[in-house]
Amino acid sequence: MNGKLFVISGPSGSGKTTLVNHVLSKVENLRFSVSFTTRSMRAGEVCGEHYEFVSREEFVNMIERRSFAEWAEVHGNFYGTPRAGIQKYIEMGVDVILDIDVQGAKRLRGAFEDAVFIFVVPPSLEILERRLRDRRSEQGKDISIRLGMVKQEVSCSKCYDYIIINNEMDVAVENVEAVILSNRLDEGEDSGRMLAAAREVKTENVYGPAFLSKFGLT
Ligand code: 5GP
Repeated sequence: MNGKLFVISGPSGSGKTTLVNHVLSKVENLRFSVSFTTRSMRAGEVCGEHYEFVSREEFVNMIERRSFAEWAEVHGNFYGTPRAGIQKYIEMGVDVILDIDVQGAKRLRGAFEDAVFIFVVPPSLEILERRLRDRRSEQGKDISIRLGMVKQEVSCSKCYDYIIINNEMDVAVENVEAVILSNRLDEGEDSGRMLAAAREVKTENVYGPAFLSKFGLT
């Protein structure tokens, strides 16, 4: 049985990275797909672990060699998912989790029919802004660029299978875990609690006027 792709997207500051790290430490048989990027390395980041940091020239060469399953320009930098990395795991029967933007997710939707798409949002726009400012990893200008993208990103969330509101990290981690395990059910991993939790974060249960108004959308 091939592994599955779990694609996670969400605005910058939604807590996706921390969430994915917690999920990776809890769920067995799941690997993170390390993306390539042209953005500069932030303090504390490790090349090969958080990203493969490459020059624009190297990135463009990789595009030409068709090395990416998808790639996109996000906030002025290039990001791409290496095709070989995900294929290797899928063929080994290992599930793969990807943290990619909404454009990349859209491209993968056509190519990987049984991939599972999860959108992570903070409880509100105000909380998102506070988290970005507290993180202090970006300059003021970059924070404005990232905030400017939020409405556009959140309006893409309706194309995802699940929406997880990251209010409390522990609950959000349990929800992502439930989504992954419940999507493995046909492989024998039966759990009523997991199924119920995953059902609760299905897009149709979360998406609506109350959800959209938190992000200035109608
Ligand atoms: P950051 O610079 O904050 O690490 O990431 C910025 C955005 O790029 C995030 O939304 C993240 O999900 C997205 N991203 C990271 N890797 C990839 C990738 O391989 N492909 C695409 N399309 N987006 C990515």
